Amino acid sequence: MRKYDFIIAGGGMAGLSLAYYLTQSPLRDRSILILDKDVKDRNDRTWCFWEKGEGAFESILFRKWNRVSFHGTTHTGALDLGSYQYKMLRGIDFYEFIQHELNKWPNIEQRQATINRIKETPQGGFVIADDEPYIADYVFDSTFLLKLNQPENHNLLQHFRGWVIKTEKDCFDPTLPELMDFRVAQQGDCRFVYVMPFDAKTALVEFTLFNDYLLADTDYEAALQQYIDQFLDTGAYEICEVETGVIPMSDEPTEENPSEHIVRIGTAGGHTKPSTGYTFQRTQRYLRTIVDALAQTGKPNRKTSWFANRFKLYDSILLNVLEQHRHPADDLFTRFYADNRPERIFRFLDEETRFMDEIRVFATMPWRPFTSAFFDVMRRRMFG
Ligand SMILES: Cc1cc2nc3c(=O)[nH]c(=O)nc-3n(C[C@H](O)[C@H](O)[C@H](O)COP(=O)(O)OP(=O)(O)OC[C@H]3O[C@@H](n4cnc5c(N)ncnc54)[C@H](O)[C@@H]3O)c2cc1C
Repeated sequence: MRKYDFIIAGGGMAGLSLAYYLTQSPLRDRSILILDKDVKDRNDRTWCFWEKGEGAFESILFRKWNRVSFHGTTHTGALDLGSYQYKMLRGIDFYEFIQHELNKWPNIEQRQATINRIKETPQGGFVIADDEPYIADYVFDSTFLLKLNQPENHNLLQHFRGWVIKTEKDCFDPTLPELMDFRVAQQGDCRFVYVMPFDAKTALVEFTLFNDYLLADTDYEAALQQYIDQFLDTGAYEICEVETGVIPMSDEPTEENPSEHIVRIGTAGGHTKPSTGYTFQRTQRYLRTIVDALAQTGKPNRKTSWFANRFKLYDSILLNVLEQHRHPADDLFTRFYADNRPERIFRFLDEETRFMDEIRVFATMPWRPFTSAFFDVMRRRMFG
C-alpha cells in the first residue's frame, strides 16, 4: 500500500481549495491523493460571498457588486458596501479552474471512488475507498456527516430553490443585487428571496428559508413564480437553470482535528457559519491558515483563541431566537441591515469585530427575545 503525504477525502469546494492552496505553498511537491465519488463537470452550485480587495479566485468571478439592495419590514434601500464587494462564483468555473491548476502537478493524483471508511492508525490516516486501502500522514476529510439531530443543539436548515431566468423585458439592474427581500409571506418562518442579476434580462432568483423542515418541490416553485409575477416586470420568461440546496444551520459541536492524522474541513469541519450558512469564504480563510501551519510547523493545527469562542455563543443565541420563534425574523434582519453600517455587519459576520462593536450590533436587536435566548442557550449548554 502506497503511503501519501496527504489524502484529500472529498474533492468538493473545501477539498479542491485545499489542494490548490497546497500547490501555492512550500508543500507543493508533496504526494497528494484526492478521492471523490463524483466528477465535477456540472454547475451544481453558485457561491456568493463578500470580500475586501482581490481574493484567490478573482480571475474567475462571474460577477461582483459594490452595492446590494435590501427589502425589509420597515426599511428598504441600497446599501453601499464600502471597502467590501459582494462576489459571485459559479461552481463550474471554480471546478475547471482548480482542475486546470492541479493538472500541472504530477505529484497530485485524483481517483473517482466512494469512501467507505476513514480511521486513525498509529501509521497515519487510513482510508478505504471502493475496497482499496490508502494511507497518508494526514487525511483531510470533507465527507464526514454531522449528526444534526441532537436535541441539545439547534438544528435549523437553510434550504432554497433558485431559477436562473431570462426575461423578455429589461427588468434587472445589473449593478444592484437583492440581498434579502422579505416581501414574501413569512408563515411563521424566516423566508426571503434574493436576486442576483447577470444583466438586464438575466438573473438568479432564489427562494430561501431558515427553518427545520423542507418543503415540497411544488411549494418552492409556487413561491418563486408568485415572487416573479408580483415584483418583477419580466414579460414572458424562460427558466434556464435550476439550483437547489440545503445547508445546515447548526451549533452541533464540530471537530476540525478529531485525531492526530485526520483533519476535517469544509462543512464537515465546522466551517459553515451556523447563523448564516455562509461557508465559502470562511473555508478559504481557515484552509489558508491550516496550510500555513502545516508549512511552518509540520502540523495542520489551526490556533484559535478562547475569546473567539464568543462568536459560537452569538450564533447559538440567534439560532435559538429563530428556532423558538421568539421574534419575527424579517424584523430582526431589517434591524440588522438598517441600523448597522455594512462594514460593521461584514466584520461581525466574519468574526473580526472588537467586543465594543459587538455591543453596538446587539444594541440594534430587541433585548427581550435575545435575553430569553441567552438563558435558554446557557441552560442547554449546562444541562443538555
Ligand atoms: C446549491 C448550494 C449553494 C450554496 N451557495 C453558497 C453560497 O452562496 N455561499 C456560501 O458561502 N456557501 C454556499 N453553499 C454552502 C457551501 O459553500 C457548499 O455546500 C460547499 O460546497 C461546501 O463545501 P464542502 O467541501 O464542505 O462540501 P462539498 O463541496 O459538498 O464537497 C464534499 C465532497 O465530498 C464528496 N463525497 C461525499 N461523500 C463521499 C464519499 N463517501 N466518498 C467519496 N466522495 C464523497 C462529494 O461528492 C463532494 O464532492 C451552498 C451550498 C449549496 C448546496
